Amino acid sequence: MRIRSKLTGLALAAALVPLPAQALEIFACEPEWAALAQALAPEARISSATHVFQDPHYIEARPSLIARLRRADLAVCSGASLEAGWLPALQQRAANPKVQPGRAGMLFAAEQVETIDQLDHVPFAAGDVHPEGNPHLHLDPERLRQVAAVLSSRLGQADPDRAAQYRAAYLRWSLHWQQRMEQWQERAAPLRGHTLIVQHSTFDYFWRWLGLEVIADLEPKPGVPPTPGHLASLVERVSGEQPLAIVHSWYQDPKSAHWLAEKTGLPVLGLLSTTAPERGIETLEQLFDHLLTQLLEQVSES
Ligand SMILES: [Zn+2]
Repeated sequence: MRIRSKLTGLALAAALVPLPAQALEIFACEPEWAALAQALAPEARISSATHVFQDPHYIEARPSLIARLRRADLAVCSGASLEAGWLPALQQRAANPKVQPGRAGMLFAAEQVETIDQLDHVPFAAGDVHPEGNPHLHLDPERLRQVAAVLSSRLGQADPDRAAQYRAAYLRWSLHWQQRMEQWQERAAPLRGHTLIVQHSTFDYFWRWLGLEVIADLEPKPGVPPTPGHLASLVERVSGEQPLAIVHSWYQDPKSAHWLAEKTGLPVLGLLSTTAPERGIETLEQLFDHLLTQLLEQVSES
């Protein structure tokens, strides 16, 4: 009888010890938000719906993504219509109340900062424009920091037991990030005032932050793939100019950039538009280091 009561006592004690809360499940629409979540919540289970070789404007609402969103405690996406072609379908089919629009578990980065290039109205046949402004804001380190602050409090809301941990992680990260931003700005001094030809507005925040200027876009209208007529018109338009390079993202077909390069003698530069763990660029810090190195090499060669 004594043994039995002792066991009961142990069982009771075990029941009173709080079990560690389960790791958060985080669904990121793009790799940059997975990387940011990883920095602030290293124990969470984080996955990204897209990778660096995919165009985040257009992906398929695959069943595996629906299943992941169904399990998610928190979803982090760019917003500003970037995912308008696929995220609503995922949200609807996942039927997870935590990540429906307007809920604290659904974080849109573009709603936390001031976006650039907002449109009062979308002109007829404007192309695939984002009226809420440019959604590719993760390439501005300052706006990224603002999103990180909101993300850390949303993490705390989703997982109150670890709220203090998330807050501390954000403060550490933010302090370090601030120092890195100053270093990047210093390192970028030789880039200031240079011009570029681009394909889509993917890096517009980054160019602005660095003081680079876009003089032409291979897309005739935002989101519309390059056409032979538009490319031909660019040959004349950029003659006499000395842009650093014709820039495209890794997920884009580089053939238009190469065509223009052949006609103009300008170099082509393919850049990572987001973190790429498959290429050893796992953190946002590594991404910015990498992008700066790529651009500075272009200056030393020009
Ligand atoms: Zn876009």
